[in-house]
Amino acid sequence: MPVQKPIIIIGAGMAGLACATWLHRAGRSVVVLDSASAVGGRVRTDVTPEGFRLDRGFQVLQTNYPEARRIFDYGALNLKAFRSGAVIRLENGQETTLVNPLQQPLSAFSALSSPIGSLTDKLRIVSLVRHVLKYTPEELLARPATDTLTFLRRYGWSERMIDSFFRPFFGGVYLDRDLSTASNFFEFIFQQFVTGEAAIPALGIQQLPEQLAARLPEGSIRLSTPVAGIVDGTQVRLVSGQVLEASAVVLATDGLAALRLLAGRSGNPDDSASTQAASFHTAARLTTCTYFATEGGHSPGRNDKLLRLNACSGALAHNLSFPSDVSGAYAPAGRALVSVSTHGERSLSEAEIVTGLREELAAWYGPAARQWQHLRSYRIAAALPVYLAGQPVRQPLKLADGLYRCGDWAAYPSLNAALATGREVAEALLA
Ligand SMILES: Cc1cc2nc3c(=O)[nH]c(=O)nc-3n(C[C@H](O)[C@H](O)[C@H](O)COP(=O)(O)OP(=O)(O)OC[C@H]3O[C@@H](n4cnc5c(N)ncnc54)[C@H](O)[C@@H]3O)c2cc1C
Repeated sequence: MPVQKPIIIIGAGMAGLACATWLHRAGRSVVVLDSASAVGGRVRTDVTPEGFRLDRGFQVLQTNYPEARRIFDYGALNLKAFRSGAVIRLENGQETTLVNPLQQPLSAFSALSSPIGSLTDKLRIVSLVRHVLKYTPEELLARPATDTLTFLRRYGWSERMIDSFFRPFFGGVYLDRDLSTASNFFEFIFQQFVTGEAAIPALGIQQLPEQLAARLPEGSIRLSTPVAGIVDGTQVRLVSGQVLEASAVVLATDGLAALRLLAGRSGNPDDSASTQAASFHTAARLTTCTYFATEGGHSPGRNDKLLRLNACSGALAHNLSFPSDVSGAYAPAGRALVSVSTHGERSLSEAEIVTGLREELAAWYGPAARQWQHLRSYRIAAALPVYLAGQPVRQPLKLADGLYRCGDWAAYPSLNAALATGREVAEALLA
């Protein structure tokens, strides 16, 4: 009997690994190729010589993501959850703490002398919680959309509530402080925060792809193997010049890389895959994550495991977190890790961002913050695909006979989308 050629998956990010996982479970032979030296794509963790674990950008797993529940062994990931809520720094420098703002809005927002929002604003959160709980995640994603800012205004929230709560909170999730992201995605994410926790694996976010990779047969993932082009659904050409034979090909790269691989595939502009390429969304959100380390055992985060959100316009420190408060393994003993995210800032260099952050952090945590050790900065130009009202929640995944694509850029900007499209391509190939 002739040996069946493998299905070749280009990209060992969450989408490619999910696709490989489901195909392997169904008994199909897979080969996963990636240009990087480790699995994970955008989900990576570096360990410094001193023993800090630096996720490449602040990133969490929402524990109720339907696709994550389907595929991960949460126990083995040893998930550590942030506390639901945030400490918000307001325009006037005042800090206010919200615990469980989406699960218990009335008590969370009234536990303070209400610098955020009116009673009507709080009641509207209760109303939105009830609304999202009526739907499945898929139904929310399929709802008609406008941009998030318009959705919030139409819902009736005051500008103060939008600027001091929604903009820093969801602007941090989308990496988009303008809240231009589509409202169906807002409703989906809002539901995820109401029903689940935001968590990180104890040893870093890269444990997510590592868990999937460990389930695949040895030798089926080839790292440091960049693909130069796709001949068709049966052949893949490596940068090394080698041509690999496949029974089908899955493009699980980011959108821009996929477009480049497809562009080399055919000179015929009428070719169906090239035509569909016009529907590829390659615009992306930029974020910079800057890591500092403190000396001494006391975490500036007071071990409360809450995110810090900055509602001040014009600030560079948009979101802050203290990952070592949530999982001790993120920092060596006696040190604390500080993660600061700056979204969309294009005009400043990394060094200028670090200098600006030191001043802002000194205002939050006192002059000692000026002495915090700068560990590393990650500027991630294509962190999330831009997802606007009117974009379909699922682009066509089949590009041509034997040629498929998966990844967040074929759906919406989330791990859930990467995992879901990976599974759907596997199902299409198995059908
Ligand atoms: C800073 C940051 C924060 C985030 N926060 C969250 C969050 O809190 N919650 C959430 O749900 N999502 C979050 N995300 C989004 C989430 O990480 C992505 O949606 C998801 O990882 C996308 O996976 P993917 O497999 O589609 O693509 P990718 O991870 O981009 O994987 C594509 C892979 O293809 C490989 N590749 C590209 N070109 C080639 C080639 N020519 N040959 C071989 N290999 C190639 C790349 O090396 C890469 O490994 C965040 C992302 C970032 C960057």
